[in-house]
Amino acid sequence: MNKNIETFIGCDKPYEEADIVLWGAPFDSTTSFRPGARFGSSAIRHESFGIETYSPYLDRDLIEDSRVFDAGDLELNFGDSPAVLARVEAMTAKIAEAGKIPFMIGGEHSLTSAPVKALAWRYPELSVIHFDAHTDLREDYLGNVWSHASVIRRCWDLLGDDRIHSFGIRSGERAEFYWAREHINLHKFGFDGLAETVADLTGKPVYFTLDLDVLDPSVFPGTGTPEAGGVSFEELRQAVLQLATLNIVGLDVMELSPHYDQSGTSTAVACKIIREILLTFSASNDKIFFK
Ligand code: MN
Ligand code: MN
Repeated sequence: MNKNIETFIGCDKPYEEADIVLWGAPFDSTTSFRPGARFGSSAIRHESFGIETYSPYLDRDLIEDSRVFDAGDLELNFGDSPAVLARVEAMTAKIAEAGKIPFMIGGEHSLTSAPVKALAWRYPELSVIHFDAHTDLREDYLGNVWSHASVIRRCWDLLGDDRIHSFGIRSGERAEFYWAREHINLHKFGFDGLAETVADLTGKPVYFTLDLDVLDPSVFPGTGTPEAGGVSFEELRQAVLQLATLNIVGLDVMELSPHYDQSGTSTAVACKIIREILLTFSASNDKIFFK
């Protein structure tokens, strides 16, 4: 007999053996348009049993070829961003200090500044690779500096110029795009320039943040701020694979808001890209076979 403990599919290795520790951050207090991302991580965990543990793309299997521990969802206080960010920062630091890769499942994107803060302290040379429809570079949104519309600006506060590399961006204020020219490496609409960025960052510590609304709403409508003109699943999968050679020290997948897609397709898409990410970066000492 086993206790009924639900993990992301195939992610039930003991903590001591794990090289990636997955956890959920159910929080959506600053969402600027439609809330619901607080339900993302639990939906992903539950619906992950609808996909296979085996990736035909990578010829790797979550049960046989990866070492992932799923720590479940954090208990977070809605409405108190500073306290929540401190909680997420502490969780990240604990995992990183154990020599493991922290992997957060959102929740809204505002949380990303917390693991970046924990890891920037540990890795002063940290860079961020950011896939998103949105710039997320506002100094504040309606006075809230912790808004998900400000999260990349908060990361810049921690890292400074030329450390953030954004891709897929197709929405934001003119002022954000102009500010970006001076301070970050912003790539509009898709993944042009990603190969050069990966080459520049080889050997350096990198945090990877994936706001799932980088996907086209026809693929991924289940999100709070859908933005037409996004990338396909296959474009995203290949972009993730391009990161395989990097020294990824932390990562997240954010902004699934499952109830906006009653078909469940968006959650299934999120599960599949998470599986590919886990199989790309877990047991990373092993060779990945590019199929
Ligand atoms: Mn975002
Ligand atoms: Mn976004």
